[in-house]
Amino acid sequence: MKHKRNSEDEDLSKKVFALGNQYQAVERLGKGTYGTVYKARKKGCEKYFAIKKIKNELDNEGIPSTALREIAILKKMKNPNVVNVEAIAFNNHHIELCLEYCKYDLKKLIDCKKLDPSFYNVRFVKNMMYQLLKGVEHLHSHKILHRDLKPQNILVDDNGWILKLADFGLSRVYSIPIRPYTKEVLTLWYRAPEMMLGINNYAIGLDIWSIGCIFVELYLGKPFIMGDSEIDQLFKLMQVYGTFNELTLPGYKAFPYFDQDFPYWKGVGLKNYLKQRHGVIPIDDVAYDLMEKMLAIDPCKRITCKDALNHPYFNDVVCTCNY
Ligand code: AMP
Repeated sequence: MKHKRNSEDEDLSKKVFALGNQYQAVERLGKGTYGTVYKARKKGCEKYFAIKKIKNELDNEGIPSTALREIAILKKMKNPNVVNVEAIAFNNHHIELCLEYCKYDLKKLIDCKKLDPSFYNVRFVKNMMYQLLKGVEHLHSHKILHRDLKPQNILVDDNGWILKLADFGLSRVYSIPIRPYTKEVLTLWYRAPEMMLGINNYAIGLDIWSIGCIFVELYLGKPFIMGDSEIDQLFKLMQVYGTFNELTLPGYKAFPYFDQDFPYWKGVGLKNYLKQRHGVIPIDDVAYDLMEKMLAIDPCKRITCKDALNHPYFNDVVCTCNY
């Protein structure tokens, strides 16, 4: 047994190459969209970190300068609701990001809802939403879009329940050279309708849509709309909002993937849909109002993070993060 553990340790010690003289990998946390993440202890102290090892697929040319520039920006992105990048190391084959370690992600906490409803309540949802908006507002104020907001990418530090955005900006850095490692990137459930209709000039509305989907999920304990393909996701959305038209999505006919032959749905509206499908849920009218503003089909009508933070929904927020 002892021998087995030693050989596992040995294997892990080889996993962190460039930061290896400072950090000892102790556990593989998982494989994400861009690479593998290890839990590591900083040598000489008891503090844990998460080291994300990203394979650089442009082996011959090294790391693209755009990626390096972007990573430099991320390192400067200091905010209590954005995961801190402690160190960065790279060679021609890999980039390693050393991040502050967080015990939970929002997906794990949503799953806790079933186990411990007393801990997971409206107050908790409001606190998490407030911090999520604060973090994304910070990114947007630096002209950075997250583009892949989903509960798995939103970490939570159990020491004070501080929410931390992870994977921010990396989607922009790596979307061209690096192929996704897992099916995770195919998660469509948080994808804005304009993106599925082929609009390429992404704006902040894209992240707001994902935040709206997470808002609904925090209340329901399960995702808002779970399509199994882009078209299925779009059709399911149209069943809620009605087939898109000039009122809900101005200029929709010119969108690359909009098809005149899409079926016609009248739509029931977000509030009715949630009530009809999920029965009694503790969403009051003020919460519905904010949800509808985040989940407007027309990206130009979607609320900004700044305005969302000033929405009456947050009048009584008890936030566990000090700003
Ligand atoms: P990602 O590549 O960000 O999708 O992460 C892959 C896995 O590593 C997921 O299970 C994450 O929850 C976990 N992970 C990523 N970053 C951290 C971190 N800073 N602290 C703890 N776990 C993390």
